[in-house]
Amino acid sequence: MSDAATAKVFVITGPSGVGKGTLIKRLLERVPGLALSVSATTRAPREGEQDGRDYHFLTEEQFQRRRDAGDFLEFASYSGNHYGTLNSELDRCLEQGRSVVLEIEVQGAQQVRAARPDSVQIFIAPPDGSVLRERLRGRGTDSAEAIDKRLETAEIELASRGDFDHLVVNDDLDAAAAELESIVRTAIGLDP
Ligand code: ADP
Ligand code: 5GP
Repeated sequence: MSDAATAKVFVITGPSGVGKGTLIKRLLERVPGLALSVSATTRAPREGEQDGRDYHFLTEEQFQRRRDAGDFLEFASYSGNHYGTLNSELDRCLEQGRSVVLEIEVQGAQQVRAARPDSVQIFIAPPDGSVLRERLRGRGTDSAEAIDKRLETAEIELASRGDFDHLVVNDDLDAAAAELESIVRTAIGLDP
């Protein structure tokens, strides 16, 4: 378990559909004391998503107001919507001595790298380009048009994979989950 002095910030990035959410869910179940930062977004909630649990769902105006007030550690536009990490989310976790996981896209990851060079940056990559479309279709949460848009962005995201401290290829889910767990445990000084 970490304390306030050793609590770490983990940034987990990768293209849409690569399996970030699935891997992070497993990570939180397996590593004690980790907290997930709940991001703010202007995108509409998907079926089953809850405000305050999955995201803080904000209107454009609310998002802009919080951005102008300097409330975000980082923010970015993605697929026509705004997303951002609230400083208050991070502080809440770190003050409790808990390490915190940010699941964000690459522009945000760069901003966190600049603001917190001690953050641990992890890129989740697909075994090949074609699985992203299959996984997004299989997830069933996005229209064909939205999937196309996300896949266009994925090309750009994949090009920045070399900027990250760690690269985890999510081919076999169990193997990728074990690798991610080992990276996180090592960084916070728990047995891998
Ligand atoms: P992301 O959060 O990166 O957008 P998700 O975690 O929602 O991705 O995963 C997208 C879809 O792919 C989900 O339906 C998930 O069950 C599936 N998935 C995740 N990892 C794997 C894997 N290793 N092999 C096959 N399917 C996977
Ligand atoms: P989704 O709409 O699928 O939930 O998320 C779309 C993309 O936005 C994903 O790559 C996700 O990681 C990213 N994202 C989620 N929250 C944040 C955030 O707070 N900041 C940034 N920069 N990206 C985020």
